[in-house]
Amino acid sequence: MNVYDIVIKGARENNLKNVNIRIPKRKITIFTGVSGSGKSSLVFDTISAEAQRQLNETFSAFIRNRLPRFSQPDTDLIQNLSTAVVIDQKRLGGNSRSTVGTVTDIYTMLRLLFSRIGKPFSGNSNVFSFNDPAGMCPKCSGVGQVVQVDVDKLLDRSKSLNEGAILFPAFKVGGWLWNTYTHSGLFDNDKRLADYTPEEWETLIHGKESKIVYYTKGGAIESDYEGLLTKFTRLYLKRDSSELSKAKRESIERFLSYSHCSLCGGSRLNQEALGCRINGYNIAQCAAMEIGELIRMIGAIRDPIAGPMVDGILTRLNHLVSIGLDYLSLDRQTATLSGGESQRIKMVRHLSSSLTDIIYIFDEPSVGLHPRDVHRLNGMLCQLRDKGNTVLVIEHDREVIEIADYIIDVGPHAGTHGGEIVYEGDFAGLLRADTLTGRYLKQSLPLKTATRTPMDWMTVTSAMLYNLKNVNVHIPVGVMTVVTGVAGSGKSTLINRAFLPSHPEAIVIDQSAVGTSIRSNPATYTGMMDGIRRLFAAANKVSASLFSFNSKGACSNCQGLGIIYTDLAFLEPIRTSCEICSGKRFSDEVLQYKLNGKSISDILAMTVREASEFFISKEDLLRQLQTLEDVGLGYVTLGQPLNTLSGGECQRIKLAGELNKKGNLYVMDEPTTGLHMYDISRLMNIMNRLVDGGNTVVVIEHNLDVIKSADWIIDMGPEGGHRGGQIVFEGTPGQLAVNEHSITGEYLRNAKT
Ligand code: ADP
Ligand code: ADP
Ligand code: ZN
Ligand code: ZN
Repeated sequence: MNVYDIVIKGARENNLKNVNIRIPKRKITIFTGVSGSGKSSLVFDTISAEAQRQLNETFSAFIRNRLPRFSQPDTDLIQNLSTAVVIDQKRLGGNSRSTVGTVTDIYTMLRLLFSRIGKPFSGNSNVFSFNDPAGMCPKCSGVGQVVQVDVDKLLDRSKSLNEGAILFPAFKVGGWLWNTYTHSGLFDNDKRLADYTPEEWETLIHGKESKIVYYTKGGAIESDYEGLLTKFTRLYLKRDSSELSKAKRESIERFLSYSHCSLCGGSRLNQEALGCRINGYNIAQCAAMEIGELIRMIGAIRDPIAGPMVDGILTRLNHLVSIGLDYLSLDRQTATLSGGESQRIKMVRHLSSSLTDIIYIFDEPSVGLHPRDVHRLNGMLCQLRDKGNTVLVIEHDREVIEIADYIIDVGPHAGTHGGEIVYEGDFAGLLRADTLTGRYLKQSLPLKTATRTPMDWMTVTSAMLYNLKNVNVHIPVGVMTVVTGVAGSGKSTLINRAFLPSHPEAIVIDQSAVGTSIRSNPATYTGMMDGIRRLFAAANKVSASLFSFNSKGACSNCQGLGIIYTDLAFLEPIRTSCEICSGKRFSDEVLQYKLNGKSISDILAMTVREASEFFISKEDLLRQLQTLEDVGLGYVTLGQPLNTLSGGECQRIKLAGELNKKGNLYVMDEPTTGLHMYDISRLMNIMNRLVDGGNTVVVIEHNLDVIKSADWIIDMGPEGGHRGGQIVFEGTPGQLAVNEHSITGEYLRNAKT
């Protein structure tokens, strides 16, 4: 113990039960425990929140008043914090100008290099910036692509406005945006678009000078009339797409067409910049190379004046390699990276920083990594520590847990049955500890030998997308298939891009957000809310609709949200509890109605597990609650807003929603994300149950226990990027373990038992 340790006493955020811990500085501390045990409540809601709050306190009152107010986490004492940096799995969205090269600063360094030693000499380094007018292609303004709204997709010319000729959902008949056309007085709303005169067509698409007047409860509002393409472009294309929800972006996507810019060929730069070369390559060609290739190209530069610049670039590029991202290129748009890839890219920025004594916080950094790449990740974590930083990691992967200097195991179970520290100490001690983590670390599943026999085969033929090299593969029906391989080998491309488009019947369970309404929660998502409302209605002889968030029974101050969002221009909106209903979300009248002594708000505050006891005699509800419990969500409350769920939790709640369908094809992308070994064993039970029920399950997964339990394995590789894209192995786990060519096979052989 050291006087500079981070000391926390009496932590009580969420489910934490007066937790006391000491965390050593300049060491790697790993937080383990089943999902829902309280790891995030401790690391994010307590440590990181307090570090942020204390940092804000150091600003002047002028700045402080413009920042969100962080309330003090519910703790008695927190001592010896330093600045915390959170490196999480939030995607590096960003607009199309944000690339791997720009966010890691490597592209900036490359520009500098070209401006110093490129031939012919081009002066200033801005010439190589596609974000700067001096360098950008004049035709596409540095985007590399031309995006157009596809009028033929947007409009059904065989219909009139009244019949719903505008196909984009936001313009649906009767809606506000639809009104801006039908109330403009410019069109015959019953005339088919095919019959429009050229002038009418021009007015609809591009607009003309005119005013529209709307009558609302508040009186008349006048605004300028705007053509459909102009409006669509302004609302959806001119905006930074990261502001829009994923669902929205996807629905917009369907109405667009893309093509490479004809002038710059997609390179985003103007001709002057493209004419400048080093050893025969221009900067766009460098940005399009895979990192490994670029290292060889840059490493071959012998110009003495470039020495320090070359070293700087190589250092960063090697960071990308050592973190398992050598298959990416600098021109890859960050919006197309997965959560795990985004997290590792963020890490690279910090590895090159010379700051010390920072607290770095990671949320399951092993996500998306093959066991082979986990060793490299560990190297990075150690490097951060050895530079004099404190590294805090939430992790489930054994190989990562093993490198911890100190382990804090949270448990014993989830939700109200968790929130305690069940073990603190080193790895050897954890193996001896009688906790779920300790127990599961000691055991390892055997290779499955009694594999199921496929009922039939599906095929993918001649797949060529991205790095896929004319791939032909058979995917068995009626069994569980695991697709594996190192990061970047082509698993997602094969399954999501080559296989799924010809299998629209597939149920795809991914980690994207669920539910579009901020009023959605597990009860509404699974449909249980309807049953619960009916029970309340029958017990109190009132209308069931009173118990809906969208009815007059909801608190009118917060419209049933329980929270008031205050928008701040440049920051995340602030959430404060509604002072009228104190977060209970319903009016006082509705809260008086009880079901066995509980109000609707009491019920929504119950965890799935508590609700199972409360509704013990209600078979329908019980079945739905059991499915949530089965997918490892027994600890969430029925009313927890879906937008507060993690990616892994979103995936599991979708799985719960789909479990009762029959005769289907299920496709999942790394479903073990966020899951403890104990949760994984339960997830495996569900997948087995699905297959036993006649379904086909295909999962992309790196977890060795899942791979061992597959009926069939498709291993991709041999490496990432252009050195991957092939099928290395197809067969059973037993066959893979003796395969000499597969990296996955090697890890399977060496897996500790
Ligand atoms: P872990 O990180 O170990 O998976 P969490 O700290 O996220 O666990 O959750 C611990 C408990 O606190 C769970 O029961 C969870 O449902 C609850 N919880 C987490 N965040 C919130 C929140 N914002 N509001 C209410 N309950 C929450
Ligand atoms: P895995 O799922 O095995 O990690 P991916 O299928 O994501 O691998 O990637 C395979 C290859 O395809 C990689 O070289 C990757 O950089 C490339 N790739 C994947 N998605 C895109 C994309 N949206 N744009 C360009 N290249 C991509
Ligand atoms: Zn261009
Ligand atoms: Zn309210």
